[in-house]
Amino acid sequence: MYQDKKAEIISVGTEILLGQIVDTNSAYLARQLALLGINLFRKTVVGDNAERIKEAAKEALKRSDILILTGGLGPTQDDLTKEAVSELLGKKLLLNEKIAEQIQNKIFHHHRRISKEAVFKQAMIPSSARVIPNRVGTAPGIIFEENEKTIILLPGVPQELKVMVEEEVVPYFSAKIPQKEVIKSRVLKVWGIGESEVERTINSIIDEQFNPTVALLAKREGTCIRITAKFTPNRVNEEIKRVENKIREKLGNYIYGVDEQTMESVVGSLLKRKGLTLSLAESCSGGLLSHRVTNVPGSSDYYFGGVVSYSNEVKCSLLGVPEKLIREKGAVSEGVAKQMAKGARKVGKAHLGIGITGIAGPGGGTSDKPVGLVYIALSSKKEEVCEKFMFSGGREMIKWRASQSALNMLRKYLTNNG
Ligand code: ATP
Repeated sequence: MYQDKKAEIISVGTEILLGQIVDTNSAYLARQLALLGINLFRKTVVGDNAERIKEAAKEALKRSDILILTGGLGPTQDDLTKEAVSELLGKKLLLNEKIAEQIQNKIFHHHRRISKEAVFKQAMIPSSARVIPNRVGTAPGIIFEENEKTIILLPGVPQELKVMVEEEVVPYFSAKIPQKEVIKSRVLKVWGIGESEVERTINSIIDEQFNPTVALLAKREGTCIRITAKFTPNRVNEEIKRVENKIREKLGNYIYGVDEQTMESVVGSLLKRKGLTLSLAESCSGGLLSHRVTNVPGSSDYYFGGVVSYSNEVKCSLLGVPEKLIREKGAVSEGVAKQMAKGARKVGKAHLGIGITGIAGPGGGTSDKPVGLVYIALSSKKEEVCEKFMFSGGREMIKWRASQSALNMLRKYLTNNG
């Protein structure tokens, strides 16, 4: 592991030893190494003396895998770091014409006077070393890779050093250090088919996956499909998306939402996007649907109101359901649900109306019309459509499932119709 490697810093400069300047470079380098997760074990300061630089570097390389030297790369006679380290590593210094030209151009541009020798000194590059360009000043930095060890030479001028570290040294190390893996999940929410059918439909995907994993969870809000992936941050989302697309291919519009989305928030967004409004007429759900619709912030933009028409009288007087229809078909019937939906739409002056009528139990069921039978109708300007449901569960669960199915009908209508 790269992060198990030991690092050391050597700051070169007699000024530092004399206390004339404070060694801020090594503090900066230490912070950068810490951010990379590389362990720094020792810092040394040596003066501008070739023998002592060599000796310090030799000692450091016995102990550590990464050695960074700062200072002493400049044009003057007391800048000796590159020469000392090259000698230690047995590297020849060769004039790099291209770098010499770059330095000359820079000097000319900045109207600085500097001798040809000084330019050449900075353009002498050790054989088989990597050059770090100096965008701010003149002396390039150097990276040696020798017998599993990395030795980096950086200039002393803090401004030059920082730019090189940010632009070259950090990316150099980052490329070698594997990124930490993260765990991320995405939940797809399904309504309209049972958990076992969801499982059957996506069984092959569940079986072939181990990263990301796919797991099913039956919840009141529907079957939740959790996709969990463990990858590096730059890969984790695309891996989840890949599996999500496969699942969507199989389940299509049965997936109503993801993660924090609820059926009511999804329907709310669709109504808003299409500029449509809604009114409700609820019997067996007792206002639960209205409650859920108004749980969404900003629902006043599309929700006009609802009637809890629990008794037959209210169904007739407030919503205009014909008494005869109730007498002939019963309050829990397709016709009544449609009339309730139409009445809600008209009374509420909305684009869409929903009517719910059913038997939530535990009493009141017959062999013809058992507990759990619910009719849900949707009324638009064009037509009334109705679906018949048989919900299992206790009274509260039946009410909840009725509200969820009504919202799902709306969702499907809004996604299929303009
Ligand atoms: P250049 O290539 O620009 O000549 P250099 O590599 O030769 O730089 P030095 O000559 O050692 O670097 O130092 C140049 C100046 O950079 C110093 O006078 C000092 O102001 C600053 N400096 C050098 N080393 C450090 C350090 N460790 N911490 C903070 N500042 C430093």
